[in-house]
Amino acid sequence: MIFKIIVLFSLLNIVYSISNHPILIVVSYDAFRYNFFDTKLVPNMERLKKAGTYADYLINVFPTKTFPNHHSIATGLYAEVHGVVGNSYFDQKKHIKQKMGFDMFHYNEDIIPIWRWNEDQGDDRYSGSMMWPGAIYPYQGKNVTYRQEFDPEMDWNKRVDTIISWLTDPNKPANLVMFYIEEPDTHAHAFGPNSEKIRELLQKLDNITAYLEEQLEKHNLADKTNVIQLSDHGLVAVKPPNFINTTQYMTNGTYNKAGSTPCFQIYPKEGYEQTIYDSLKAGSIKNGHFKVYQKKNYPKNWYYKKNPRSPPILIMADVGYGLDDLIINAPWYAKHYKFNLTDDSEFGVHGYDYNVSDMHPFFMARGPKIKKQHKVAPFHTVDLYNLFTEILELPQVPNNGSMGNIVDILSDKPGRYSIGSILIVTVGGVLIALLLISVAAAVALIIIKRQQTITTAAALNKRFPQTFHNNIIEAQHLLEPEDA
Ligand SMILES: [Zn+2]
Repeated sequence: MIFKIIVLFSLLNIVYSISNHPILIVVSYDAFRYNFFDTKLVPNMERLKKAGTYADYLINVFPTKTFPNHHSIATGLYAEVHGVVGNSYFDQKKHIKQKMGFDMFHYNEDIIPIWRWNEDQGDDRYSGSMMWPGAIYPYQGKNVTYRQEFDPEMDWNKRVDTIISWLTDPNKPANLVMFYIEEPDTHAHAFGPNSEKIRELLQKLDNITAYLEEQLEKHNLADKTNVIQLSDHGLVAVKPPNFINTTQYMTNGTYNKAGSTPCFQIYPKEGYEQTIYDSLKAGSIKNGHFKVYQKKNYPKNWYYKKNPRSPPILIMADVGYGLDDLIINAPWYAKHYKFNLTDDSEFGVHGYDYNVSDMHPFFMARGPKIKKQHKVAPFHTVDLYNLFTEILELPQVPNNGSMGNIVDILSDKPGRYSIGSILIVTVGGVLIALLLISVAAAVALIIIKRQQTITTAAALNKRFPQTFHNNIIEAQHLLEPEDA
């Protein structure tokens, strides 16, 4: 009996060392373009993609840059709402150029990233961020429970091992982890998306995908964990003859500038708004390979206009063209990575309109809450927040996404009592019931035995007062065969 109880306790320990809530890992491979699968260099990713649910691509947000898109994934909001309007922007109140930092991600304190929303529901829900852009900062004054700041030197296997340690923490097991890898983006900027270097990195990303799956399997987490793999944007190749010098169309000292190829955010100093726009417009007509927009004329479907951080003027290069910063950066890349810079050198660029197909990221998911061997129509990056809240069984939050686009991904219709959760509750309930029954049986056995001892002794004493008077030990001995 004691052995059975020990076994049951061990089983319960296994169940309880991971979260009781649905578990989700969101993996982002920066700049992994939707059609990198066509390279046939990612067989593990291909297998997982076919096993679960995938879309041919995601429709991301404008601008197709890293920080705006990662914050849209995390909040379900367009850039004009969450305020991360570029990888940098010019702060017109503080008169400084803002880069990655607390201010960038705190345009509005009411915005709740998914990791904060998960923890806000309490009941032992814990989130972790493995380098997710913007997640290192506190939101509503609270830090995420587990966080690793951006460190490109950190080995990828170690990133996975750390995530597994968060998911299996005996005291605070995470039920949501945001997992970011900065490749192939970092090297693609220097070598272009068609390079041998990128082919190597795609294979390395495929291997880390396999390693994550192996580790989940090894820790008995594979069947309990939902894994969504996606990206923030794609890439196109740009060659030096297509670099455009736009500075020549503006007078030094009359404006501030933020952003990078292919879109510059221009903040004219007071009184120069029209002059700069007119000059850039004339330059755009003359050059023929970039466009210039005033804020009032931003395309509506960019969802980029309604924010004070959005620039009064925006320069956008045509697809396959780059701007002034590449004129400076290309020689730097050549020197840093030791290659010869020629007119045929290719550099990776993203940031164009999200309707450009090469800007599209990929999406795939697998796990207990995800349909198997299923394909869905392309949907929006801003829809992902609703997918996360459904998987995690969290209350919905108003956002720019649609629920309709993600219902088809879920193995159960949206609702709080999926087959998965019912199974977990049932199995957990059965285990607890078995334990209680065992304990109750053991206690009952002891009571019965004691009762029998007393009863038997009393009965025997009554029947044979002379022989068994107060001799309980002897009475027990007489009844032994019936107890066996
Ligand atoms: Zn990116």
